[in-house]
Amino acid sequence: MEERVPSLPLLLLFFFLFSTASSSPIPKGVCIIGSGIGGSSVAHFLKKYSTHLNTTTLLKDITILEKNKIVGGRMATVTISGDTFEAGGSILRQENLHAYNFATSLNLKIKTYGSNSSSSSSLIGIWNGTQFVTILNTSISQRYGNESLIRTRQIVQKAVESFSLYYTSLKSRPVFSTVEEMLKWSGLYGLTQKTLQEELADALISQRFISEYITIITRIMYGQNVTISGLAGTVSIAGSEGVAWSVEGGNWQIAAGMIGHSNVSLNLNEDITSISYVGGSYELNSTKGNSYCCKVAIVATPLDELNITFSPPISIPKRKLQQTYVTFVRGLWNPAYFGLNSLSEMPHLVGTIEAPDLPFSSISIQRFYSQEDMVYKIFSRTVVTDELLDLIFSVRNETVQINWAAYPHYQAPEVFAPFVLDGHHLYYINSFESAASTIECSAIAAENVARLILSRLSSAFPSDLPNF
Ligand SMILES: Cc1cc2nc3c(=O)[nH]c(=O)nc-3n(C[C@H](O)[C@H](O)[C@H](O)COP(=O)(O)OP(=O)(O)OC[C@H]3O[C@@H](n4cnc5c(N)ncnc54)[C@H](O)[C@@H]3O)c2cc1C
Repeated sequence: MEERVPSLPLLLLFFFLFSTASSSPIPKGVCIIGSGIGGSSVAHFLKKYSTHLNTTTLLKDITILEKNKIVGGRMATVTISGDTFEAGGSILRQENLHAYNFATSLNLKIKTYGSNSSSSSSLIGIWNGTQFVTILNTSISQRYGNESLIRTRQIVQKAVESFSLYYTSLKSRPVFSTVEEMLKWSGLYGLTQKTLQEELADALISQRFISEYITIITRIMYGQNVTISGLAGTVSIAGSEGVAWSVEGGNWQIAAGMIGHSNVSLNLNEDITSISYVGGSYELNSTKGNSYCCKVAIVATPLDELNITFSPPISIPKRKLQQTYVTFVRGLWNPAYFGLNSLSEMPHLVGTIEAPDLPFSSISIQRFYSQEDMVYKIFSRTVVTDELLDLIFSVRNETVQINWAAYPHYQAPEVFAPFVLDGHHLYYINSFESAASTIECSAIAAENVARLILSRLSSAFPSDLPNF
């Protein structure tokens, strides 16, 4: 059979059409910068909600641009001796309905972690840099009294109930144009205007409980002190209690699965350096020299430490990110470093109070292979040096360290960047991260941004769509 060879003019046309990425970009509907949970969720919700609308076919043409060679962003794993460990966003809560629905609808295998048992594995040592202030077992109330525990749980429960309003039906839930509006509607805004310390002290919670137990939680969850906002603090405490879960093999699979399922284009290794609004569209340029032209552009990554040039320029409140080092060690820790005589006295988790020069925030056992062989995870604000690791560990077979620009450096009163960055169709999901940085918070913000886009592009956006 004769092979069909395209004619020269056809070849030239083909070459012109498909080689022009750097000179004249092909218009796209929506460009999303970032393939973490925010980028993958907004793609999912845009696809889902726009299938119900005829007027927004452009919203079905979605491209995700990701600078890394893999998806998932801060949901990332490391491999130690062939076993996988979460290095970023690790733990989800029962109440995290978006993430849960995504994971289960993608048939991902879920691991659950119950509330503490009475075994020694639940011992928490509170370390002040030279000695254990105390080693807590399950009866925390013995040291801090019941009242402080009960009052803290009441604050957390109220916040969890407020968050659950973001899952109510679209009919009863407005589309929010700003983070402030979104937080005020659910009753969470007040918590962003006070520090956690102030919030707990106002509720007559004991100072000892705050400076020990609550401090180790905020240092583990956000690498910060109880001077973080009441909302970020409450989210930290909520994350440390009750039933938790994660995806076996890595939470990043939620983002990967949703991107695959939503049938959107994914361009990896595409580092966006500029976004220009020209003639009613956005032109996005990457370090590779590629250009993308989109009617809608969504930033699904924190802008604080990125070198993206906006034209015309945008203005958002300055926000610092908290640097967090996550160090994994396979080996055995040295009880003598902690002033103890034997391994059997060591707690399962070493948490720390806020003290100057403390070189780490926490050390926890991640996997137990044998009495003398475990994998540990260390959180710290600065690099943990080999010299220090050699003091903390008597055996160190493998060490992996990751440095994250992890989450906002929280403060109170908190200020928020807008969801709409330019009054047109340039959106910013991670403005919500100033409220709290979690996998679920990114999904909640992404869902609102998807509805915001649809409602601004189509006055006929219906309110009787299914939620998930
Ligand atoms: C150490 C650590 C522990 C954590 N623990 C928990 C936890 O236990 N539970 C929990 O719920 N949350 C946790 N979090 C927070 C949670 O991981 C994040 O809030 C969430 O994953 C943020 O998702 P995102 O999609 O908004 O942003 P990201 O995951 O950061 O995604 C942004 C993506 O954009 C890409 N990108 C950035 N710039 C560009 C560019 N110029 N061009 C193209 N692509 C770009 C990035 O490569 C990245 O993939 C933790 C975070 C860290 C760092």
